[in-house]
Amino acid sequence: MVKNSKGIEVAQILQDKCIACQICIGECPVGAIELSPEGVAHVDAEVCIGCGKCQESCPVEAVQFERARKKELSREERGMPPVGIPGYDGVAVFIEVQDGKGVQVSWELMGKARELADKLSTRVMGFLLGEEGIGRIAQDAFAYGCDEVHLSEHPVLEGYRSAPYGHALTHLCETVKPEILLMGATYLGRDLAGIVATHLKTGLTADCTGLSIEDKTRLLLMTRPTFGGNIMATIYCEHRRPQMSTVRPMVMRLPERVPGREGRVVLHEWSPPPMDLPEIVELVGDALEGGPDIVQSAALVVAGRGACDPQAFHLLQELADVVGGTLACSRPVVEAGLMPYERQVGQTGKTVAPKLYIAVGVSGAIQHLVAIQGAEKIVAINPDPNAPIFKVANVGIVGDYARVIPEFINQLKHRMGA
Ligand SMILES: Cc1cc2nc3c(=O)[nH]c(=O)nc-3n(C[C@H](O)[C@H](O)[C@H](O)COP(=O)(O)OP(=O)(O)OC[C@H]3O[C@@H](n4cnc5c(N)ncnc54)[C@H](O)[C@@H]3O)c2cc1C
Repeated sequence: MVKNSKGIEVAQILQDKCIACQICIGECPVGAIELSPEGVAHVDAEVCIGCGKCQESCPVEAVQFERARKKELSREERGMPPVGIPGYDGVAVFIEVQDGKGVQVSWELMGKARELADKLSTRVMGFLLGEEGIGRIAQDAFAYGCDEVHLSEHPVLEGYRSAPYGHALTHLCETVKPEILLMGATYLGRDLAGIVATHLKTGLTADCTGLSIEDKTRLLLMTRPTFGGNIMATIYCEHRRPQMSTVRPMVMRLPERVPGREGRVVLHEWSPPPMDLPEIVELVGDALEGGPDIVQSAALVVAGRGACDPQAFHLLQELADVVGGTLACSRPVVEAGLMPYERQVGQTGKTVAPKLYIAVGVSGAIQHLVAIQGAEKIVAINPDPNAPIFKVANVGIVGDYARVIPEFINQLKHRMGA
């Protein structure tokens, strides 16, 4: 049994079992776990409180305690004051609308909101803003697990502009008083979340990769990569409400849609204060510059520095065509000017969750891996058998892409033809 200087038995990681999925890093309430340079979870014994959350969450039983699991320490036991702000209740999701429809990340968050609300024994709310008639989207919100949609309609809310949306969403929060407000980390969501958090003088944790509720305190634990993605930080907002978080598209799983599920719609009167409004001249989609949207693609062929050569791209494009996928890349390829930023996968690029992810010449740095956790099947091609990408790959091919891919294409064509 390994104890720290406080006499607490600390979690032991079985290195040969750890698959570097980082779930324990997100679950640890005190940030005691990080990924070691060898690509396995490492526990800081002096920070570990022996709560066992890592053991509960590990999908491959790579976390070990010798004694029976320790009971979870209360905030009081940890010397922290009790929390909870009266008058605030419910988990709200801001429903972002594009082309007359709710965007997918809003529904992904609705699924997470349902999970958090069930844990808190409270309700899930959708906050909806737009022109007259926008309330029709409430049906979709109910189908994805929402109990109540609170909406404000006004002609000035047709098309996004920061000032009126910021004012209207702040007004909804002040009226309805949700305990938690989740928003998609889209261009619009990032802009709006900052404005609303500032108006409400509350905290905002951006780009979260994990959200959970601390049992004893009902606080929202918001986990996100920090210090260049090298550690996962779990942040909470103790003294202000709502607790606000943004989450990128594809990070949370889309819940099952239940058509016909019903809920309550509440209309809130809202008028904009006098303000100078910019005129909307044209709406330009964020995927236009880089071609097809890599976030929506079911298959991705991803070029890393090891395949950072325009000649390689012909081969990779051929592979992408065979699997019906899209070409994407790691950051060095964007930095080399060979692909637009819109194709970058990673912490500072896009988070993706395709059915098939083929990494070609990608080493598997943590800032890249953090954005592919939702990928169903990962195939990696790399001549270095110790490349960290192989730790997360379902299929690993050790070799030079120039030799592997032509044969890979042949085999695929042969099997697909057959
Ligand atoms: C704050 C911050 C944010 C970041 N954000 C991102 C991000 O969003 N996305 C991102 O990707 N990175 C990001 N990075 C950079 C990240 O740390 C890595 O540097 C980067 O992911 C490495 O890219 P790579 O795997 O393509 O290149 P490398 O790490 O250089 O790996 C190249 C790989 O190619 C292999 N190789 C060589 N020759 C061949 C061949 N002939 N055939 C096949 N394989 C070959 C090598 O064995 C090697 O494993 C970020 C870094 C920081 C600090």
